[in-house]
Amino acid sequence: MGEFELIRRYFQRPAAALPAAVALGIGDDCALLRPAPGWQLAISSDMLVEGRHFFADVDPAALGHKALAVNLSDLAAMGARPLGFTLALALPAAEEAWLGAFSHGLFALADAHACPLIGGDTTRGPLNICITVLGEVWPGRALRRDAARAGDDLYLSGGTGLARLALELLRGTDWACQHSAPGALARLRARLERPAPRLALGQALAGLAHAAIDLSDGLAGDLGHVLRASGVGAEIELNQLPVATELLALPLPQRLECLLHGGDDYELLFCAAPADAAAVAAAAQTSQTPIRRIGRIGSAPGLRLLDAAGRAIALPGRSFDHFAAAAAPAAAAA
Ligand code: ADP
Ligand code: MG
Repeated sequence: MGEFELIRRYFQRPAAALPAAVALGIGDDCALLRPAPGWQLAISSDMLVEGRHFFADVDPAALGHKALAVNLSDLAAMGARPLGFTLALALPAAEEAWLGAFSHGLFALADAHACPLIGGDTTRGPLNICITVLGEVWPGRALRRDAARAGDDLYLSGGTGLARLALELLRGTDWACQHSAPGALARLRARLERPAPRLALGQALAGLAHAAIDLSDGLAGDLGHVLRASGVGAEIELNQLPVATELLALPLPQRLECLLHGGDDYELLFCAAPADAAAVAAAAQTSQTPIRRIGRIGSAPGLRLLDAAGRAIALPGRSFDHFAAAAAPAAAAA
């Protein structure tokens, strides 16, 4: 199977199936898009590299899903609606079973969000998947990282930490395996491999919330990007953070590591004026997305964690070695 046969067989779909916003899809030198008049284009790229972002033996359908999901999550975090995406794919070989499953996972998510594949590039090489997603957003309504204001409420969709626990179970990490029920990995694997981008919530919040970010690298770190861009600080009320039962079973340091630094959550973290609390709740309801107020934005820079009594507690460190060190004698940790 040659390059063009591969594209035709696995990635090109009938032009009739394309939405009106796509004037020309796969097959020419460029795709042609027709954004809604007056709207701004929102554009984002994310690359997935074998060994770094996924294991070589990952289910190809899940990989197709996740490659697009992480990109759609960026549109969600901007309050944009999807227009289409391109796919640049490096493959070690044209393996039919792999390509069939990969494109199946990819298109299932693309179809669920009416986001068509409009072009790309295909080459032989170490497995590498780069997607660029295009969306549209009304001027002034995008949820920018620099728009948080002191006094805002801080909200989180869904909850954090389970993707990280699934990753540690996959890796066979001691603390994860010791404190998880049998079958936990089978239940939690989808949290890591099939994140659901919060597009409906993002669009419902456009023009309403002040700032938003999607959580790819962990709650604390990603919130830090918003705080620095906006020149503000934040307090997180620990007892307001949603904690899944699987995480409750972990010792406190590992639980906090998953909740605050977990990564791969693909939830939305956003802030809004307290006066808009009812409108935010309505946006969550119309988008059928659970949200929780987890703290507030303040003018003092930095991130503070508050316990149930409102006392500041130390923010735990963020690396794995931290746990290795904590478990070992103090001298070994130094
Ligand atoms: P060019 O030589 O102009 O770069 P290519 O020969 O690479 O074009 O690709 C032919 C057509 O197929 C183009 O329209 C391109 O966008 C599309 N295409 C190539 N690879 C992919 C892919 N992996 N997914 C979707 N479309 C692709
Ligand atoms: Mg090309």
